Amino acid sequence: MATLELDSITKTFQDGDEEIVAVDDVSMSIDDGEFLVVVGPSGCGKSTTLRMVAGLETITAGTLSIDDRVVNDVKSQDRDIAMVFQSYALYPHMSVRQNMSFGLEESTDLPDDEINRMVSETGEMLGISNLLDRKPSDLSGGQQQRVALGRAIVRDPEVFLMDEPLSNLDAKLRAEMRTELQRLQNDLGVTTVYVTHDQTEAMTMGDRIAILDGGELQQIATPLECYHEPSNQFVASFLGEPSMNFFDVTLEDDRLVGDEFEYPIDADVRADLGDASDLVLGIRPEAVELVDEAGDHEFETTVDVVEPMGDENTVYLHFDPDAAPEHASVLVATIDGFNRVSEGDTVTARIPEDAIHLFDRSTGEALH
Ligand code: ATP
Repeated sequence: MATLELDSITKTFQDGDEEIVAVDDVSMSIDDGEFLVVVGPSGCGKSTTLRMVAGLETITAGTLSIDDRVVNDVKSQDRDIAMVFQSYALYPHMSVRQNMSFGLEESTDLPDDEINRMVSETGEMLGISNLLDRKPSDLSGGQQQRVALGRAIVRDPEVFLMDEPLSNLDAKLRAEMRTELQRLQNDLGVTTVYVTHDQTEAMTMGDRIAILDGGELQQIATPLECYHEPSNQFVASFLGEPSMNFFDVTLEDDRLVGDEFEYPIDADVRADLGDASDLVLGIRPEAVELVDEAGDHEFETTVDVVEPMGDENTVYLHFDPDAAPEHASVLVATIDGFNRVSEGDTVTARIPEDAIHLFDRSTGEALH
């Protein structure tokens, strides 16, 4: 097993005259046996980061170490890592058994019967023992995915690198494989870096998640920490569905003044804001409550749309009953499914002060 250290890693590509900075000065340490999920929108540099760790892409600047050994110039096959791709990359002309044993035959002197034993054992672990003599074309997507995993596992590497390995599976299978992968990784205890753009995978699978945007690391922390204590507005908006509500507000004395509401804040909230006065107020939909009482943090709103989801409803509210919906600030609330509200209703929405986030409007940095 191994630790992995990225120290100020940068990758630039030359596209004609233009220099593309795909990964920009990214530093992170991944612990021995840790499951790290790297997540972010398309083009944020996730795959490039992983490919540099794999040795499939050169590193423009910075240092990459595996177990304190600098591996910038170590060939991919000498890094003791195994990679699983979205495309599975199985050899079509080989049987499942051959696909799984090929790497071992190439890179070790193990006798055939030992390799066979290892392949059979891994096959059993993944529930594909009965498929070992088939060709990849005779397997379902989920089965091919297991073979790709088996090929990585059988090599008993120091590090697993996975690039969107579940994205070609249907939703049900993806959910099953999510749990299974976690269990496997836990049992095997192999340091794993897992790239995805799927926030459910990020929230549920990782010991920690690293969130990238524009090639830059935005935050690296446990999923719950990223969710509840986002380091900036990007992270706050990236995690959570429906996404966090944001309102531009200005600090005036001890009040946040928005276009359609005023929101008094406590001295300890005020103290976190320093000199900043142009702010963004953030509140997660599930933190918004529909209540009967009036107060400083309660606002009369009109229901625009109700989306029933079964156990809960997503309701879209707006503050100003006279504003045309397209001009009114929308407040999204997730409420209990038994709470029946209808379009056009007037309801009182509470924005609890202990649940608000405040960001610097110019930098996006979280202040509170
Ligand atoms: P996706 O989720 O869409 O796969 P990603 O987060 O994995 O995206 P990367 O594939 O790492 O993003 O790409 C990061 C940036 O680097 C993008 O702007 C991409 O266009 C650029 N890029 C990646 N590979 C190359 C290359 N070989 N040549 C030029 N630009 C590249």
